[in-house]
Amino acid sequence: MVPPFAAVYFDCDSTLSSIEGIDELLQFADPDLQKDVAELTRQAMNGTLPLAEVYESRLGKLAPRREQLDLVGAHYVQNLVPDALVTVQALQFLGKHVGIVSGGLLVPVQHIARHLGVPLDCVHAVPLLFEVDGTYRDFDHDSPLWKNGGKVPVVRGAPSTHQPMVFVGDGITDLETKEHVGRFIGFGGVVARDAVRAGADHFVETSSLAGILAFVLSEPERIALQNDARFRSLPI
Ligand SMILES: [Mg+2]
Repeated sequence: MVPPFAAVYFDCDSTLSSIEGIDELLQFADPDLQKDVAELTRQAMNGTLPLAEVYESRLGKLAPRREQLDLVGAHYVQNLVPDALVTVQALQFLGKHVGIVSGGLLVPVQHIARHLGVPLDCVHAVPLLFEVDGTYRDFDHDSPLWKNGGKVPVVRGAPSTHQPMVFVGDGITDLETKEHVGRFIGFGGVVARDAVRAGADHFVETSSLAGILAFVLSEPERIALQNDARFRSLPI
């Protein structure tokens, strides 16, 4: 599909921010628990344990407290990918909707959304449930985003005014949206995965998120950005 696109949706971990949010929770765990969780992650990556099962047992073991999620959110913001903010601002200046679809945890992802000026109703991630004293109870199993294929119903369910949409991400669950969006851009600025590079419509190798703009904009949109001092220096 060719530009113009109505919306650009981003993955969060290793796309908008250079960290992986759930890994950040490890810093609050004791060394035995850290080893335990690292082993689960290893098994998920080797395919010996299903992703969904690992998601559930990792969170159960880490049992994050409510206030720890705000710390992870602050780390997301401290580790923003270069030019993430100006890229979002350029897209919004052109009248595009911007959204975030993440398999991470909702509260930290909302932190980065607020920082970037992304409306919270366009932010999709996995909500956690807490006891009244702030201890972990469970995560919201009704969210599709803790399983493979989970981003597909989210992009398909986006408002019709957000179509056609571009999706930008670094991972396999991002690539799964490709057949359901107007264009899929792989972002390799933090982690470059061969499978994503091979499957994407376009792949960005630069560390700057602004590298996606060349694959998103129509010619009139490119000119509009060049005519605005805030965006003139972007690689467009
Ligand atoms: Mg990612």
